[in-house]
Amino acid sequence: PAVGEPLLEARAVRKEFGGLVAVNDVSFTIRAGDIMGLIGPNGAGKSTTFNLVSGVLSLTKGEVIFRGQNVGGMSSREIARKGMSRTFQHVKMIPEMTVLENVALGGYLRSSSGTARAMLRLDRAEEKRLFAEAERQLTRIGMADKMHELAGNLALGPQRLMEIARALATDPALLLLDEPAAGLRLKEKQALAEVLRQLKREGLSILLVEHDMDFVMGLVDHITVMEFGTKLISGTPAEVQASPVVRAAYLGT
Ligand code: ADP
Ligand code: MG
Repeated sequence: PAVGEPLLEARAVRKEFGGLVAVNDVSFTIRAGDIMGLIGPNGAGKSTTFNLVSGVLSLTKGEVIFRGQNVGGMSSREIARKGMSRTFQHVKMIPEMTVLENVALGGYLRSSSGTARAMLRLDRAEEKRLFAEAERQLTRIGMADKMHELAGNLALGPQRLMEIARALATDPALLLLDEPAAGLRLKEKQALAEVLRQLKREGLSILLVEHDMDFVMGLVDHITVMEFGTKLISGTPAEVQASPVVRAAYLGT
């Protein structure tokens, strides 16, 4: 879709775990070219919503429309192939491999139905293509200088950036990030924010699940606030900050 048109619509998405309603008929829209922040206290249902949208969890009810198509019920791999790519709340990597190898492997696992073992049998041309793409994405996010370091030796900030590079290796239209700033030092958060702004300038749309209000407010175009599985409000950062219901429920003022 063109900039400003709906890219992703969650329509009354619902997830029940046994008797617990983790996500209670939540709706929101992400427009092409926007960064949307999904915020709320711990246990609000943010990660579950994120997993519903990306097909990691099955919907109890509701619809997920991505690029004009209902992707509710599709597998996460199918949805990824349609141009949605995600990171996880906890860094997933092979610490004994280099940053470049981690990103190349991630790109491979996401873009095919292959396994890590099958990657060892790739022909040279395909392997070269994967590594070239990994290098391109690492350069894009300013990590070319750390390409040949072991992933396990990186600080948390660069590890998170590496994960973003890996998610970018499939060339998504929408990038989903689950608490990328959690545990980062201020300088690392600033570096991350700068990378996300850069990606937005390049036309990428982003769904950012975050706990850190300050990090979100200066970065996103729209915010959806959740609490106890329900949506409290959607709006611009200014609208959300001014909302009495948010101040009462989330900011505690
Ligand atoms: P958040 O990401 O906002 O912290 P979550 O989406 O992780 O919140 O969790 C929302 C609620 O759903 C919580 O009460 C959590 O305990 C529950 N929950 C999450 N995942 C599962 C699961 N796989 N099985 C049962 N309950 C779950
Ligand atoms: Mg979470």
